[in-house]
Parts: sequence; C-alpha cells; structure tokens
Amino acid sequence: MKNEVSRRRGLMLCCPHQTAQEITQISLVDLKSRSIAAVILDLDNTLVRWQQEDISEDVLGWIQQAKELGFALCILSNSFSGHRVKRMAERLNVPFVRRAKKPGRAGFQQAFRLLGCRAEEAAIIGDQLFTDILGGNRAGIHTILVNPIHSREFLYTRIISRPPERMLIRHFRRLGHMNH
Ligand SMILES: [Mg+2]
Repeated sequence: MKNEVSRRRGLMLCCPHQTAQEITQISLVDLKSRSIAAVILDLDNTLVRWQQEDISEDVLGWIQQAKELGFALCILSNSFSGHRVKRMAERLNVPFVRRAKKPGRAGFQQAFRLLGCRAEEAAIIGDQLFTDILGGNRAGIHTILVNPIHSREFLYTRIISRPPERMLIRHFRRLGHMNH
C-alpha cells in the first residue's frame, strides 16, 4: 500500500493523521503497511520526561523493534540542552537534530538527509501540536500525536501552547478527525 499522506491546509495543519496514548502503542507493522520507512522522534515528553534522561524499558523495546523491522530513526528536538540530546541519541544509537526550531522546515529537511528518506516515507511522533504536528504536516509527512509522558514541561509550553492545543484537539475530535 502506498503511503498517501493527506496534505493538510489551514487549521488542519495542526491536526495529526494518527494519535496514540504513548509511543509504545503505535503499531510498527501498521506503519510499515503505510510504506513508512523512517520515523522522526521528538524527545521531551515523547521518549523521556521533560529534561530527563531515563528511558523506560517499554520505550527501549519499541525502538529496538523498530530497528529490527528496518526503520530508520532519528531524534528531532527543539531542546536547547544540546548535550543531553546528543547523549540520548548516542544511547539509542540514532542520529539527531538538536535546536531544531520545529515547526520550521529546516530541521525536518536536516532529518530527511540524516535518514536518507523522502517526505513520503517519513513519519513524526511527538506530543505537541504546534511544533511536532504542525511542523510534520508542513513538511508533508505522516504525523502521530502522543500524550505527553508527564505534565512537567517548559513553562512556555504549559502556559502558552497547551490551552489552545486542548481547544483544537476538542475541535478535531468533534469533527471526527482524531481517533481518541
Ligand atoms: Mg515534546
């Protein structure tokens, strides 16, 4: 089956193609069947708690399985803590882009180069509509929203981003665009 990412416009640029409670609930077999070969991973509150470095066994297992299934992986993080992003990427043995400035396109282009993939073959998994999902949709890739691992996060995110994000999620759910 060919991956036909529906191009999004307007408000729908913030709407994910897929949602999951957490990354470990995303079926890698399903991603394969959509012809996705590369997965871009947000770091904070997607793989680990904000500014933390402990990765759960479940997440490690999912990443291992993704590698075994032949997915190319990379971390795309807006974090300014470049050393931490680098350490995490080294521990997972995946390439990374730090200070990515999502939803800007440049970080995604850099990720495509690292992954050696085209946009049609890529997906992003992240916990924020206005960075991960908006950026992914602008870049024309399959976008997957997960719930943040923990409520602790960057103050700007909590105060500025989350309230309109919750409103949009309610809106998308009402229209039937989000499966949970
Ligand atoms: Mg995040």
